[in-house]
Amino acid sequence: MWAGRRTANDMHSEVIVIGAGAAGLAAARRLHDGGADVRVLEARERIGGRIWTTEGLAPFPIELGAELIHGEATVTRRLLAEAGLHDIPVDRYGRMRWADGGPARPLGELPAGPRDTIVAIKAAYADLAATPWGEGVPDISLADYLRGRGFDGQALEIADVILAQTCCAPLGGLSCADLAREMRADRAGPLEFRVAEGYGALLGWLARGLAITLGAPAQLVRRGPRGVEVETGAGLFTAERCVVTLPASLLRAGALRFAPPLGEAKLRAIGALRSAAATKLIYRFDEPLWDEGLTYMAHLGAASRWWTPGHGREGAAVIACYVTAGRAEAIDGLGEEAALRLGLEELRGLLGAADPLPRCLMARRVSWAADAYAQGGYAHVPPGAAQARVGLAAPEGDRLFFAGEATAYDSNPQTVHGAIESGLRAAGEILGS
Ligand SMILES: Cc1cc2nc3c(=O)[nH]c(=O)nc-3n(C[C@H](O)[C@H](O)[C@H](O)COP(=O)(O)OP(=O)(O)OC[C@H]3O[C@@H](n4cnc5c(N)ncnc54)[C@H](O)[C@@H]3O)c2cc1C
Repeated sequence: MWAGRRTANDMHSEVIVIGAGAAGLAAARRLHDGGADVRVLEARERIGGRIWTTEGLAPFPIELGAELIHGEATVTRRLLAEAGLHDIPVDRYGRMRWADGGPARPLGELPAGPRDTIVAIKAAYADLAATPWGEGVPDISLADYLRGRGFDGQALEIADVILAQTCCAPLGGLSCADLAREMRADRAGPLEFRVAEGYGALLGWLARGLAITLGAPAQLVRRGPRGVEVETGAGLFTAERCVVTLPASLLRAGALRFAPPLGEAKLRAIGALRSAAATKLIYRFDEPLWDEGLTYMAHLGAASRWWTPGHGREGAAVIACYVTAGRAEAIDGLGEEAALRLGLEELRGLLGAADPLPRCLMARRVSWAADAYAQGGYAHVPPGAAQARVGLAAPEGDRLFFAGEATAYDSNPQTVHGAIESGLRAAGEILGS
């Protein structure tokens, strides 16, 4: 019922942005700079969402969530420059090492079998963009596509590590049409970076001077002729318009209710998107147990992908394992100590080193599936649902707007820069309306 109700906590603004992650803060920044009176409502007691930079674990900021900037031509890099922040280049894929039973080695030093398989998988993946999926060619899973290209079960396991793990999805759950869409939309470029001051510094810069209410989980968004009411755990907030940036996993779980209910097309899009687990194991040692050139290594283990967050810095004895989907579920299913020990065991094999345990100063597991306000890593599109991102991004009437990484249909979803761009898009929709 819309009756202009007021409570002790009542706050009115022109626009409410729900969620203070990369998308929400980018939207709020653009709206604020465009002259709108904006309030951001955030469930957590911190900003950043799936960006979570910590100090104190190492001599430099450690990223418990997003870590890399994927692309030299991203909005993230432009904003870093504006903010006076810095990036550190990292060549992960060019220096990738793979372990085929023994220690991880550069691809050029691998036996022909696994090396040629990895090269062929990457080439087949790059070919995806040339196929008009969905326009005469039925959308299929990445696993089926690779099978069709003649890859056997062993090769599919490798593809799961080097392709699907990155997408936070099982190989059989990824839509070729959506992957090809992203390749065609990609303007980011192939180079990668870390933020020297930590991603959190960039979000802090985006958030400067904005009205942000922390500890305010939105529960119900009610639309009426006079605007929008948002009921939260911290009271009632009202506005003319509202931008929703919740992760797709939470929308799918019904964590936010809408009155009147969302339309059928929106519900179809929300129902189509999938989210899988994402988990990091982070270790710090008394000194690096690896050579300076190590940036990225992988194998078919449970703790399958490793990189060096301190690459290019002083005091760089930190290594992180990042796994998703089934591997993350398996690691989440262990107790924290058992999970961290499993990681160390696999690390020992990958480095061909002595037991790293006595050298370990700090170890931490971060499970994003267990995080109430993320409920997973990032969203993926299953075969046959290639319109889901567009459907989620579309405004609902003239009062309700949507942003967030999952909506980045014209960019790279699953990334920070995709989330930022989606927030800028939603802000543009409001400013232009
Ligand atoms: C482990 C991990 C590693 C990653 N690595 C990278 C990487 O290296 N590079 C990269 O580019 N991307 C990476 N990503 C992806 C990137 O983090 C996300 O795409 C991006 O941060 C998403 O931003 P967002 O604003 O869409 O969502 P979020 O950051 O999730 O923001 C949504 C906000 O809404 C809040 N919220 C939820 N429910 C409510 C509610 N009911 N009321 C109010 N607020 C609510 C949440 O607390 C959150 O702050 C990674 C993600 C994870 C999980």
